[in-house]
Amino acid sequence: MSFSELGLIPEILQAVTDAGYTEPTPIQRQAIPVVLAGHDIMGGAQTGTGKTAGFTLPLLNRLARHASTSASPARHPVRALILAPTRELAMQVFESVKMYSKHLPLRSVCIYGGVDMNPQIQELRRGIEIVVATPGRLLDHVQQKTIALGQVEMLVLDEADRMLDMGFIPDIRRILSLLPANRQSLLFSATFSDEIKKLADQMLKNPQLVEVARRNMVSETITHIVHPVSSGLKRNLLAHIVRHEDETNQVLVFVDTKFACSRLAHFLERHGISADSIHGDKSQQARTETLENFKSGKVRVLVATDVAARGLDIEDLPSVINFELPHTAEDYVHRIGRTGRAGKKGKAVSLVSSEERHRLADIQKLIKLEIRQEIIAGYDPEPDFFDGDSSKRRRSPSPSAAGRADDRPAPDRKKRNEREAPRETRERAPQRGRQASHVASDGFDFNKPYEQKESSASPAAQSTSTDVPSQKAQRPIAFLLGGLGRKK
Ligand code: AMP
Repeated sequence: MSFSELGLIPEILQAVTDAGYTEPTPIQRQAIPVVLAGHDIMGGAQTGTGKTAGFTLPLLNRLARHASTSASPARHPVRALILAPTRELAMQVFESVKMYSKHLPLRSVCIYGGVDMNPQIQELRRGIEIVVATPGRLLDHVQQKTIALGQVEMLVLDEADRMLDMGFIPDIRRILSLLPANRQSLLFSATFSDEIKKLADQMLKNPQLVEVARRNMVSETITHIVHPVSSGLKRNLLAHIVRHEDETNQVLVFVDTKFACSRLAHFLERHGISADSIHGDKSQQARTETLENFKSGKVRVLVATDVAARGLDIEDLPSVINFELPHTAEDYVHRIGRTGRAGKKGKAVSLVSSEERHRLADIQKLIKLEIRQEIIAGYDPEPDFFDGDSSKRRRSPSPSAAGRADDRPAPDRKKRNEREAPRETRERAPQRGRQASHVASDGFDFNKPYEQKESSASPAAQSTSTDVPSQKAQRPIAFLLGGLGRKK
């Protein structure tokens, strides 16, 4: 199927061609006709599926009838509101809006916190049809009466489950109360807990379920490996691994806390490895700069928290390292989704101390894979790591993988079992509500990961609310990650 078969206007088709897309991704095939027909959508999708274009293209198509070259602000009221949980995601969505609307006289702005409000106010005064915003800053503008939402026709709530994680649902409810009841609403979420379902009930009218790429499916091109290691040795093991990687390979390292994030990046820097960190305490400008430096290859290792990394549009990386395993197994899938894209090979390395073994068990259960464990010589785990499971003990077989003397920490054995950093509260996000599962009458469990289904059916057939994603995947997951079919 081509984009031209989806009913999009020439200006938008041109922008799609300019972007180099040759065919719509499954979420786009499903969502675009439904949005064009004016229906509300409950969509399950995560970053990498092409969902942004899936809602932006038809949104622009619907707003195109209002497009006006008039300079008068009155001719450019806010007609579409796109809410995203993080500044980074909002900026990325905004970039997409700009890119896809470049042949249309529609104006857009991105509004997020942590920066001066005045430039945003100036933009809004000019008259803007499409506002991409994080909830908190949007409400600041509402309070200051620098934005009027009375003419909003379309609302998109992106990554609703992240909104929930980050405590934004009350803000969302406030925003909903400010919008005209007669509007089209699209809600995207990767999972549908009871709370998200409640929000969807409040926000959507007769929504069509747009089924998505399976969420918890891990690319088969990824090699997973666990290095059991005592927590006190992790930093040194990380430096050791990075040094033994190909010099040109960039690495994304995940940690649990903002504090650990900066400390670890400094540690690597001190050991001659160019590294930087990205977390929620950094100013927007610093985060943007860090990301740019990583993307351009100036920085080899980016240390990130889950929240800061969410939605970052980082191209495929050869490896992702979990300095600590995430608290929820789903976050493991998110994290390693940064590697092994588009059929390329990827490596997901996890440094696991004995107190993280239960997390490892959850992850293995979710991804249905027993991950190979390998101790790197000189970087042993705590003595109780294999308690009750001695069959797992495996040592690094090759001398090349063994620790070099200069990678070893100061030989203070006693210190080895100490944690390298005090635990602090995780960056705002984490406790994904594990709530009672919501099983629809047709047997579809909204709390379960999505399973990909065949994309051969017509879009209309795929987008009814009674769809059950039961069929087996035919397209490789790389396609769903937006990696295939794109002109270089
Ligand atoms: P998203 O899931 O919206 O974050 O998109 C993930 C990536 O896929 C982005 O880099 C998009 O530019 C890219 N993308 C979106 N739609 C397509 C398409 N139809 N073909 C190829 N790449 C796409």
